[in-house]
Amino acid sequence: MSKIFSIAIDGPSAAGKSTLAKALARELNAMYLDTGAMYRAFGLYMLRRGAASDPAAIAACVDDVNITVDYVDGAQRICLDGEDVSQAIREPEVSMAASTVSAVPKVRERMVALQRKIAEGHSVVMDGRDIGTKVLPNATLKVFLVASAEVRARRRCRELAEKGMEQPYEQVLEEMIRRDYQDTHRAASPLMPAEDAVHLDSSDMTLDQTVAAMHALALEAIRRQ
Ligand code: C5P
Repeated sequence: MSKIFSIAIDGPSAAGKSTLAKALARELNAMYLDTGAMYRAFGLYMLRRGAASDPAAIAACVDDVNITVDYVDGAQRICLDGEDVSQAIREPEVSMAASTVSAVPKVRERMVALQRKIAEGHSVVMDGRDIGTKVLPNATLKVFLVASAEVRARRRCRELAEKGMEQPYEQVLEEMIRRDYQDTHRAASPLMPAEDAVHLDSSDMTLDQTVAAMHALALEAIRRQ
């Protein structure tokens, strides 16, 4: 595929965006960028400083930290001042910290600039909350991926268990709803579908079905661009 294209996948937490984006990027031979990992890395930095819920400290620290993304055997690796934090950012407490730091406008400015720079000149599949509305407003295809809160919480429980970080379903569901509320109600780039996004509900779809649906949408959008 010789044309450069960009695919934006947005939606609430645990809707399956990353798994889908990764699979699609592989099929389309494009770069994959999990933008949530970048907010998570900065959330982890602020947690370690004991100031993850202090907006003034968050804004003051955002320029002090060096967040880099590279790829090892096709998997995204994220480093915080040179330390590989790809695993550490998946700890449940980092999820809420990422959501809190990401509401600070200065943090968003820095991350969006970094995301655009990483994607420059490449075909890319990017997933996050504001990709279609802010990061890639001219994306070839924008998809807003949703699933019911219960389905998402079950998926997240399974994911955590696979990583040896078991958590009770009720707790996962409650934290996910709280985080989605925070992401949807913030003033800076709240989670919302772009006007021209295609809505996809994966509640009753398998991963293979979702990838196939996305693949068809992507090929059609790339053909038309
Ligand atoms: O996607 P993930 O759950 O890893 O994202 C963690 C948090 O980072 C989200 O809850 C959201 O607050 C924030 N985020 C964001 N914009 C993005 C990606 C993630 O605000 N593009």
